[in-house]
Amino acid sequence: MATIDYVDRRRMRLDVEFRFAASHRLPRYDGPCFRLHGHNYTFFVGVEGDVDPRSGMIADFGDIKRAVQEHVLARVDHRDLNDVLENPTAENIARWIWEALEPRMPGLAEIRLYEIPDSCVTYRGPGGR
Ligand SMILES: [Zn+2]
Repeated sequence: MATIDYVDRRRMRLDVEFRFAASHRLPRYDGPCFRLHGHNYTFFVGVEGDVDPRSGMIADFGDIKRAVQEHVLARVDHRDLNDVLENPTAENIARWIWEALEPRMPGLAEIRLYEIPDSCVTYRGPGGR
């Protein structure tokens, strides 16, 4: 059996993946994305913190999933993102997700949003770490 020092509070990170489908158009973009179209978005919520010596966890995956469902997915899934943001670029959506979660998610470290499978934006909060 492996020996783990359970008193040692190692800082670690966890990531939870989410998906939603939504339409948008980019009113300030001179190109095809000016027109209404849709994406299947994927995003990762990254949380960092000390592993609690008693629970052995940084955070409860279930708590993260409940917060994202209530404060993000319920507001964007199968919606028009222009009803949420005036200019819903991937950058602005990532920041909006951060701002929806940050007040209720201790240790929130990063939002990584994929608008298409090979391209993503990463937001690490107003400090821009
Ligand atoms: Zn688009």
